[in-house]
Amino acid sequence: EAKAAGKGRFVFFAESMDATIRHRKQIETDLRAALRTGELEVYYQPLYSSDEGCITGAEALLRWHHPEQGMISPALFVPIAEQSGLIVKIGEWVLEQVCRDARTWAIGSVSVNVSAVQLRRPDFADRALMILERNGFPAERLEIEVTETSFIENAAGCEDNLARLRASGVKVALDDFGTGYSSFSHLRALSVDRLKIDRSFVSGIGSAKDGSPIISAIMELARASGLKVTAEGVETIEQRRFLAGIGCNSLQGFLMAMPMPIGEMNEALRRGVQPA
Ligand code: C2E
Ligand code: MG
Ligand code: MG
Ligand code: MG
Repeated sequence: EAKAAGKGRFVFFAESMDATIRHRKQIETDLRAALRTGELEVYYQPLYSSDEGCITGAEALLRWHHPEQGMISPALFVPIAEQSGLIVKIGEWVLEQVCRDARTWAIGSVSVNVSAVQLRRPDFADRALMILERNGFPAERLEIEVTETSFIENAAGCEDNLARLRASGVKVALDDFGTGYSSFSHLRALSVDRLKIDRSFVSGIGSAKDGSPIISAIMELARASGLKVTAEGVETIEQRRFLAGIGCNSLQGFLMAMPMPIGEMNEALRRGVQPA
């Protein structure tokens, strides 16, 4: 009986595997079309200074309005786009869009997420710089966000791209910092300007899973290494207060603003300071 049940489970498992693969294939096909049909949209989430509460930057976050399935999260479709290589085209589309949207913004910089798949390509830096130039967008006002795990494969190629971009003025941030591998020892070798403290440490502030000792350690490390820091995922006043208190002066999170379409972002910039 147990054997029969076990076998039944296996069939069920195999069927659901199959369904998952078909679902992924479908997403991939739809995503390829989405680039042409205008279903992709770049949202922006402002970054705020913790002292005066003014907008100092913004992160571009990709959104996909699927005709049947509604809004699909990048957490779901970016990995599929990476596996199929489609992320290269999508990434260039995002950068192009950002150049147009943000050209007139009077803020420090705009951040764009760059996938490991993009970063490993030998022509990544050249193509990105070409897009900036074509759009008349100053390289100094672009920051790219990469993750430490990008460097596991072809570290030299990734480094080469970063060095080239930085030589032209582009800034580099390490996203989701603290969740990657050998964060601290690795850092010296990487060409970066900023650390983005992962949301998981911020959300723990003031709770049982308190991330504040790790945040303090990251702040120390950043000070010693001359790096800037942004905290992501700030959701409560208590978190904001703690971060401001330990000298983290760049904050991003739902407490201040959600990611928003370009129209609303322009509005937010006109208003200037964050909502109390
Ligand atoms: P990420 O780069 O770490 O972006 C931050 C994520 O945290 C965003 O999720 C943002 O909406 C969310 N977030 C911001 N503040 C808060 C908060 O206070 N609370 C909570 N719970 N979440 C907050 P989103 O937009 O769903 O993006 C997920 C991930 O998808 C991004 O993580 C990034 O890795 C990837 N992604 C998004 N856009 C792009 C893109 O254009 N290219 C690439 N390669 N990846 C992208
Ligand atoms: Mg990011
Ligand atoms: Mg992040
Ligand atoms: Mg993240």
